[in-house]
Amino acid sequence: MSSQDDIICKSCNKICTDIQLKWCRPCAINNLKKNFTNWTSGNEKIDEFIQQMQLKIESFDNIIVEWIPYEQFNNVKKTKKDGFATAIWKDGLLKYNEEERTYKRILSNIEVFLKCLNNSQNVINEFSNEKYSIKVSEIDEFDIPKVYGISQNPDTNDYIIVLDNSYYCKECGEIYMERWSKWCRLCQINNLELNHSGNKKIDEFIQEMQLKIEIYDDIIVEWIPYNQFNNVKKIGKNGFTTVIWKNGPLEYNNNKEKFNYERKPNKKVTLKCLNNSQNVISNLLNEAKAYSIKGPEYDYDIPRIYGISQNPDTKDYIIILGGFCENCGEIFTNIYYQWCKPCDLIQNFANWTSGNEKIDEFIQEMQLKIENPEYRIVEWIPYDQFNIIKEICKDNFARMYLAIWKDGPLEYNYNEEKHKHERQPNKEVILKCLNNSQSVINDLLNEVKGYDDITEIYGISKNPNTNEYIIVLIGVNHVI
Ligand SMILES: [Zn+2]
Ligand SMILES: [Zn+2]
Ligand SMILES: [Zn+2]
Repeated sequence: MSSQDDIICKSCNKICTDIQLKWCRPCAINNLKKNFTNWTSGNEKIDEFIQQMQLKIESFDNIIVEWIPYEQFNNVKKTKKDGFATAIWKDGLLKYNEEERTYKRILSNIEVFLKCLNNSQNVINEFSNEKYSIKVSEIDEFDIPKVYGISQNPDTNDYIIVLDNSYYCKECGEIYMERWSKWCRLCQINNLELNHSGNKKIDEFIQEMQLKIEIYDDIIVEWIPYNQFNNVKKIGKNGFTTVIWKNGPLEYNNNKEKFNYERKPNKKVTLKCLNNSQNVISNLLNEAKAYSIKGPEYDYDIPRIYGISQNPDTKDYIIILGGFCENCGEIFTNIYYQWCKPCDLIQNFANWTSGNEKIDEFIQEMQLKIENPEYRIVEWIPYDQFNIIKEICKDNFARMYLAIWKDGPLEYNYNEEKHKHERQPNKEVILKCLNNSQSVINDLLNEVKGYDDITEIYGISKNPNTNEYIIVLIGVNHVI
């Protein structure tokens, strides 16, 4: 805890504006004002403008915009965009130092971004519309480039705005679409070494698709040589095959400060072969447009397109797709989870029965309603799955038992290559045995409907000795 003394400004003897960092705004402003005579840009308007910017500081970490002499810059490198450059600022910016309660230049040789303008009025106009910010930690202004100061090139007399370089692409000078991923669409696409189809129309189409990407996890559609495909396996529908794409698709890596595209090898994809497509390229291209290039978080029900290829023997063109069930060849119910409801649940209807048609239909209906594989799957659970531990309580209608469900409930495993439901064995559950429920199925089902199928219930069972029905409940909510 800071003592009373500690939160008093040593210069003005008043309580600090920021008592935690011992920063006194009036004194900081006074010091800046005192320093106004120690620097000049040589242009009255610019001097006034910088002074105004300095007096705007509201917090210890706001940037003090300065006049920066041009000789402070080393290594000035032009970008592809006219008037934009990167440079090293020798002394670096002023930062508030808590221990010494003063501003110091701590980081020297910092990389900055320079924007050149050819007259002084333009400099001031540049700052309108909140185009730049001095508030480093203000969440609302996170995406607004931070400004460090103004300078002037003595050879050209051009003014220069000095900016935080993390907002701009070093190569082309454009502002990043998303600063954290350092992803610049044009530079990234231009730098990729991609294959060509040898057909002008197809190459143009592929380029067009590539320019449609908007964020870094969108798919880069490409020409994929046919010898990239292994393990060809026919699935469901005519003309569809599942294969392993050896090198795999390009994925943007913004982990570990990589910030580049890398291939994700051995990706399972679906090939759609367009028979006799050698001469009808327009059909191929129309078909290709129907698929999505969005990242996994979007378009849950539209298959993805990764590229186009050609079978060298038949010369048929092939569209490379993602989002199809390997088992039945249909589009996944939910592409994000790579989940096929028909294969996972509906096909399985034949493998279980309660022995009562009404109950079977009821459970099937509950399962058909599931849209997301993470939802609870209410099931028919054979009684021999339970090890009863103890009776918990009873009344005239029911008896409650604590039990272990040996195989346990289904949970969706969406790890790479899994994408299926797996049982979580030895789950503690509560069995609610309904007294004399042998023939009152409607009452049973009404009672089941009363439970929340996500948080309260696992399924229905039946004691074969007494023929009484049992509602299987999730343990944690019912332990007494
Ligand atoms: Zn003070
Ligand atoms: Zn760029
Ligand atoms: Zn399927």
